[in-house]
Amino acid sequence: MIDATYFDGQTTRRQPVTVIIHKRVVAMRGPGVHRTIRLSQLNISERLQHAPRILRFPDGGFIEVSDARLDKMLAKNRYRDPWVVRWQQNWPLSLLALISLLALLVSGYQWGVPWAADRIAQHLPSSIEKKIGDQQMMMVDARYMTPSKLDPVDKARLSRLFSELKQPRGEKTTYRLEFRNSRMGPNAFALPNGVIVMTDQLVLLARNDQAVLGVLAHELGHLQRRHSLRHLLQALGVGVVLHLWIGDVSSALAAIPTFFLDQKYSRDFEREADQYAIDMMHANSLPLSPMADLFKKMGTEQGVAKKEGDASVDEAGEDEDGDDVQQQNDTRNAPSRGNAKHEAPPDYFSSHPSDDERIAKLRAADNK
Ligand SMILES: [Zn+2]
Repeated sequence: MIDATYFDGQTTRRQPVTVIIHKRVVAMRGPGVHRTIRLSQLNISERLQHAPRILRFPDGGFIEVSDARLDKMLAKNRYRDPWVVRWQQNWPLSLLALISLLALLVSGYQWGVPWAADRIAQHLPSSIEKKIGDQQMMMVDARYMTPSKLDPVDKARLSRLFSELKQPRGEKTTYRLEFRNSRMGPNAFALPNGVIVMTDQLVLLARNDQAVLGVLAHELGHLQRRHSLRHLLQALGVGVVLHLWIGDVSSALAAIPTFFLDQKYSRDFEREADQYAIDMMHANSLPLSPMADLFKKMGTEQGVAKKEGDASVDEAGEDEDGDDVQQQNDTRNAPSRGNAKHEAPPDYFSSHPSDDERIAKLRAADNK
């Protein structure tokens, strides 16, 4: 039996009582007050170092117990604190909980964000994709592009040839092909609004329609898989996406151009786009080796350009881990920013230049 204080929950009157717990029944007795209740019906406050424990009745009345023997009494009657409390009082478990939480957060970031970004990318209204793409096109045009100087006959031929190709698996991905003269040299990329940009320099470097068609197929692959949008959403985070969705589009879009400059596709996306190009060229009985040759040439060009400002370019085949490659790209880009010659728009096409593995895969595809 232990001493305690009873409050009826209606008034502030303190009533001294004694409490006994037996066979999971709590009996409380004092002058003019007597209550009996099953232990399971009481709400019992958690055990804290210096605070009394509160045993609360369903009707609001409660018993305040400072006597430490209560814990023993509760234990004897097989009362168990809720699991959270037990965890708090058990540091190895708490540590484990903390580590699990951290693991959850990290994996959430690692996998959850891309997953959410991909889900959202699949459902984002096309009006928003158009806004994002238009904005990016404006930015690229303003900073890097001038109107194409290619012979209109060449442009018309390439546009027609590509539009006549069958898309793989009978797909009907819509796109709009745009030619631009680029200050950055050979490049091609696809924007979320469905625009594929091909630079004059790439066409001139290729000197081969089939190579250009292969590159266009690669870009159509990026478009079909919504890589640009997925990448954007992954990098900017779901918050921005919700922003885009809910309303304040302009402020969210304002963040895009800077991001746009720094980002390159993951190797996975490039592999997917390469595979798409292979599928599409196969569907039209066209060879991939002209595209492989162009890759090789682009790699050489970039190697020469990079040597001027940067020594450590040779990343090809070094590391299969996408994250590492991404980081290498980031650090490599940092010092060259501000130097217009090295500053490239998001290279979509040449983000992992002249990767021997990619070239070999394209060549091998011709023998299948
Ligand atoms: Zn690409």
